[in-house]
Amino acid sequence: MNNQPLSFVHPGPDSPWTTYLMQVDRVVPYLGHLARWVETLKRPKRALIVDIPIELDDGEVAHFEGYRVQHNLSRGPGKGGVRYHPDVTLEEVMALAAWMSVKNAAVNLPFGGAKGGIRVDPKALSNKELERMTRRYTSEIGIIIGPQQDIPAPDVNTNPQIMAWMMDTYSMNTGTTATGVVTGKPIHLGGSLGRVKATGRGVFVTGREAARRLNLDLNGARVAVQGFGNVGSAAAELFAQAGAKIVAIQDHTGTIVNAKGMDMAVLMPSLKQYGGVGAFKGAEKVDDEAFWDVACDIMIPAALEGQITADRARRLKARLVLEGANGPTVPSADDILADRGVLVVPDVICNAGGVTVSYFEWVQDFSSFFWTEDEINLRLDKIMIGALKKIWDTADRHRITLRTATFAVACERILTAREERGLYP
Ligand code: NAD
Repeated sequence: MNNQPLSFVHPGPDSPWTTYLMQVDRVVPYLGHLARWVETLKRPKRALIVDIPIELDDGEVAHFEGYRVQHNLSRGPGKGGVRYHPDVTLEEVMALAAWMSVKNAAVNLPFGGAKGGIRVDPKALSNKELERMTRRYTSEIGIIIGPQQDIPAPDVNTNPQIMAWMMDTYSMNTGTTATGVVTGKPIHLGGSLGRVKATGRGVFVTGREAARRLNLDLNGARVAVQGFGNVGSAAAELFAQAGAKIVAIQDHTGTIVNAKGMDMAVLMPSLKQYGGVGAFKGAEKVDDEAFWDVACDIMIPAALEGQITADRARRLKARLVLEGANGPTVPSADDILADRGVLVVPDVICNAGGVTVSYFEWVQDFSSFFWTEDEINLRLDKIMIGALKKIWDTADRHRITLRTATFAVACERILTAREERGLYP
């Protein structure tokens, strides 16, 4: 083999890219003749690093580092979110882009995988600075994004307003009104009903299905949620509506527990007021590490990568882990959870609800015909339940975890497209 190792990243053990590569290695025995193409999954097709200089409100100039990575475009245009976080690196964005390739193929959307990010603490910027940074970033990556090329969306610390600025900047630069260049937009700019809560809804729908198979009654089930943003809060609300008790929540402002379950009607409005769960009066504040020891039936990691380490996997009390976040479980922890009989619904299917409704948004923007929220939710549920069933059948057939089964289903689709397209030139 003449495959040269990538020279531009040096990922450490348990880092997102290393985790992703180990997940790919585990699927190779199930790929049959397509294993010949597996190297294509182990390197991004394209990775762009951009400098983003902006003028701050005090007149100083600040530079930020931005990325857009297109991991695989065999099945369609790139699709994946944009993250603003001080710890973002090229290597992390590569892993997130690769997981998007797998996720989009797992739910059979006609997209490849991509992801973007800026290494910045957005909370330290004013609204005007955030807008200038977003617009400059969009201009810089404008050479590789577009409604038919690569379609960004929200991720950690990005939201519909940021998508509106991205759409406007791209439209100004191209002289069109290109609503289809990003998804997760505000509704009156071509956004889709149901998009904001779609990822959390997908976590709930796949979680409900997994709980049914475990004979775990959601009514009264104890749920712990790490990360209470777009994904975690929407999932928690749906579990609470189904009768579950939200017994622990952790976000960047702290960890709160209440064995009787939190009152979501009181908690949700207080989030806006305090900027997180840390100050919530209806629960006890505990040490962050104690979160992983809380007595619960369902654990929903919905914050960042690498949160469920081997040590935490040994301590976890839950029977079911629903990966709202991307890459929350490192491979050694995955093995420990499997040995302990804890069922993990992996990120690449569990949190695919967001990109599925993003796909609906993209289709609606092209046809300029918009669906009702009920239509969106019905179609979303149907796609998620159908995709999970196929994955579960694959897991049962090969006696493998749901993660390896999701990779098997998805990688077969990606590599079939790779093979049928053939190599250029
Ligand atoms: P968000 O910015 O809305 O929320 C992130 C949450 O994580 C916040 O509550 C924040 O306080 C918390 N958090 C950050 N650092 C933390 C830490 N060190 N410990 C505990 N909590 C911490 O982001 P989001 O869109 O909800 O994304 C969360 C995860 O879900 C990410 O892994 C993201 O990639 C994934 N995801 C998001 C979407 C989507 O549609 N937004 C889709 C698929 C997957």
